[in-house]
Amino acid sequence: MGFRVGSFDRAQVGAFRPFCPAYTKNSIVEVDLDELKANGKSLILLDVDHTLVKWKSEDFSPEVLAWLDKAKSLGFDLCIISNTRRVERLRRLSERLGIETVRGKFKPSPAMFRLALIKFKKEAAQAVMIGDQLMTDILGANRAGIDAVWVQKMDGPEFVGTRFNRMIEKFVSGFIYQALVTPVDEGDNGPVGVGLLQRPIVRQFVKFLIVGGSSFVIDYSIRKGLQELIRLDNGDLLSYRAGTWLQQNSTLFNFAETPNKAFAPIAFILASLVATFNSFIWNRSWTFQIKGKEERAKQLRRLYLVSYIGLGINALITTILYTQVHLGLFVSTFAGAFVAAFWNFAGQRFYAFKTPKTTEG
Ligand SMILES: [Mg+2]
Repeated sequence: MGFRVGSFDRAQVGAFRPFCPAYTKNSIVEVDLDELKANGKSLILLDVDHTLVKWKSEDFSPEVLAWLDKAKSLGFDLCIISNTRRVERLRRLSERLGIETVRGKFKPSPAMFRLALIKFKKEAAQAVMIGDQLMTDILGANRAGIDAVWVQKMDGPEFVGTRFNRMIEKFVSGFIYQALVTPVDEGDNGPVGVGLLQRPIVRQFVKFLIVGGSSFVIDYSIRKGLQELIRLDNGDLLSYRAGTWLQQNSTLFNFAETPNKAFAPIAFILASLVATFNSFIWNRSWTFQIKGKEERAKQLRRLYLVSYIGLGINALITTILYTQVHLGLFVSTFAGAFVAAFWNFAGQRFYAFKTPKTTEG
């Protein structure tokens, strides 16, 4: 996926929030200085390479120089944040532009950002960072509590360490772009070359599997607790006492050799109800990104329906493979879970959490 321009709803990016800029621009000269000023910003922190000027170059474009002049005339304090080892070049650039610099610990350490705040006697809220790298400029600024603007890197080669950062950046940006709220210009960065993980459905499936893992842990923990851990006042296992009662009151439970085992279906049902509810919560808000309370009850009912049919499919496949095809227990169990996972994903994606088509494109 190519670089995309817009602003971000940072509440939506969850665990990737530290990497999330306030907004993106194709170039630093597109950053609206009047708007920054209106938002109470008075200190602009600047990355150098591929933000102000190409890597190793000292030829500033007239547009960048004009933008910097305007910033100064509007009364902004400007400060270059750099951890370059080419100190001489940095000194020349700094003198040429008439802009101070802060050098120090490698970004994304927040140290240099804090140093700049001290140097200019500013609060974090008064500063803004502009840079072309998520993993250094944006992450570092966020860690120091400073808003960051992510600009598209200039054309041209990059330092080998930067190229490595770009790979991680590519991965992280896939999650961050989900929170892009005001796409302004997609340019020619169409669907061509869309990476597998960037596809919404693949990302949804990965999230679905993660949620499934958490539900499995919950399911197992509850069953283990109810079956083998929770004891009553007199030291009896809960499962023993409840199972005894069940067997005394219904012949239905005589299938089991022991009271503990008679209680197993009850533990199973309770655990699966809670685990399925866990899947509902996380798949709704995180995997399928559904906002608001609309249709929540209907979605919950549909999800339970899908899940219990999935459970049936799982049991059926596992049983047939194990008892009729005579495959091993592990292979049979795995195959059942595998098919059921696809059933559940499709059922949630296209039925339970199906969102009504909106009129906008
Ligand atoms: Mg840079």
